[in-house]
Amino acid sequence: MTEEIPFLGLKGTYQELQDELDAAYKRVMLSGWYILGSEVEAFEKEFAAYCGVNHCIGVGNGLEALSLILHAYGIGKDDEVIVPANTYIASWLAVSHNGATPVPVEPDEYTYNINPSLLERAITPKTKAIMAVHLYGQTADMDPINALAAKYHLKVIEDAAQAHGALYKGRKAGSLGHAAGFSFYPGKNLGAFGDGGAVLTNDTHLAELVRKLRNYGSGTKYYNDIIGFNSRLDELQAAFLRVKLPRLDGWNERRRKIAALYQEGLRQTSLIQPIIPEWAVPVWHLYVVRSENRDLLQHRLYEAGIHTMIHYPIPSHLQKAYSPMQLTQGAFPLTETIQSEVLSLPIGPHLSPADHARIVKTVCEILT
Ligand SMILES: *Cc1c(COP(=O)(O)O)cnc(C)c1O
Repeated sequence: MTEEIPFLGLKGTYQELQDELDAAYKRVMLSGWYILGSEVEAFEKEFAAYCGVNHCIGVGNGLEALSLILHAYGIGKDDEVIVPANTYIASWLAVSHNGATPVPVEPDEYTYNINPSLLERAITPKTKAIMAVHLYGQTADMDPINALAAKYHLKVIEDAAQAHGALYKGRKAGSLGHAAGFSFYPGKNLGAFGDGGAVLTNDTHLAELVRKLRNYGSGTKYYNDIIGFNSRLDELQAAFLRVKLPRLDGWNERRRKIAALYQEGLRQTSLIQPIIPEWAVPVWHLYVVRSENRDLLQHRLYEAGIHTMIHYPIPSHLQKAYSPMQLTQGAFPLTETIQSEVLSLPIGPHLSPADHARIVKTVCEILT
C-alpha cells in the first residue's frame, strides 16, 4: 500500500507549534475567563494591525461575520445584494439570513472571481451592497467594484474567508471595501482549532454596532441597546490565533512556493491552471485546476492515494436550499462549467516536498 496523501493535514500545525499552543491553552484555562476577555481584545488589535484596518471584532464564525455586517448596515427585506454566482454558499446565506435577496453575477473566466464588467446590469433600485468574494485566496478585482459602488452608493463587503494576507495592488484583503468578514475555520489559511470569525472595518460606527450585535446588543453588561445576537470569538480560540498569526506570512509563502512548483510541473499537461493578474498576490487557500475529465482524474488520483476536493460541486443557485429562487440549470452557465471542471489539489504549509513531487508526477502520468 502506498502512503495516503490527505487533502489537508491539519495536525502539522499543532505539531509545529505544540509548546506555544499548549502554553496558550494553559494560560486561558488558568485565567478562569473564557468569553470576551484579554485574549480576544489582543487578537482583535493584532489582526486589525495585520490587515491595516482600524477595527477588528471577533465573532462566532465567518458566516456570522458577513451576516452581522449586512444586519448592521440595515440591509434586509426588499433589499438586494449582489453576490458571485461562483462562490461558497455561505456568501449567499449571509444575505438570505437577513431577509435580503442574493443577486448572482457570473465570474471572470480566468480568475473565477466576480466579473466587474457584468456588475452594472445587475444593479437595481433595490441593490444595497456588493459582496466581493476573494475565492481560492486571490482577491477580486476591487477597483472597478468600488468605483461602481461609489456611483450607486452601495456598500462593498469583502468575503475574505479564503484570503488572510492576500494582496490587491499592495493592500491587504480585509481593507479593500467598507467592511470584511473573515473565517477562522480550521482549514483556512489562518485557522483556529474550532470555529471563529471576525469583522474588519475602518467604519467606526459599523464597528460599534457589530461589537454590540455580537453580544446581545449590549455595550455594558445588562444594558441592551439593540436587539442583538450571541456570536463571539472565544478566548481559547483567540489565544490560539495569536500564536498562529505571526506565522501566517511564512505559511502563505510556503503555499506560494508549492503553487509555483505546481504551475511549473503541470505546464505540459492539458489542465487549465490558475491565472494570476499582475495586481494580485494570492495566498493560495486552494490550488484549483480545471479539466474536462475532472471526475476521472479525481478518481485516478484517489486510487493512487492522493486526496483531492471539489470547490464546489454544486453551484449555490442549483442547491435545494435556493430552489425557491427558481434558477435552473443553465442560468449561470460559466459558473456551472467551472464547477463541473474544477479540482483542488493538496496545498498547505505542511505538505512535504516529497508528497508534492509525488502529486505532480502522478497527475502527469494520468494525463499522458
Ligand atoms: C469558509 C467560508 C465562509 C464561512 O466561514 P465559516 O467560518 O465556516 O462560517 C464564507 N465564505 C467563504 C468563501 C468561505 O470559504
